[in-house]
Amino acid sequence: MNSSMIGKIEKAHRYAREPERVQIQAIESTFRGGHDEYHVRFDDGAWNCSCHTFSSHVIGTCSHIMAMQQMLGTMLPANARFWEEEASPLKAGAAVGVAG
Ligand SMILES: [Zn+2]
Repeated sequence: MNSSMIGKIEKAHRYAREPERVQIQAIESTFRGGHDEYHVRFDDGAWNCSCHTFSSHVIGTCSHIMAMQQMLGTMLPANARFWEEEASPLKAGAAVGVAG
């Protein structure tokens, strides 16, 4: 392996420990929940999930989206990390995560 490639690999290892360098714009994913698989999307600043909790529009989020928000953390735009904010349904103690 040439020295230029070794340098790039070392840089990649350093970058991989600095997730704040990455800003996710869009996600298309399959989320394997406890009972079923769901389609979780993030696009144009908005989250979407195919599960019943999300589609009922009662709390505007669901356990799958909240899990993704925790996984992705600082890689998400600030306004897409609801779990971190004061208005978070988690902090407000709303009943969530029952489905899936
Ligand atoms: Zn969901």
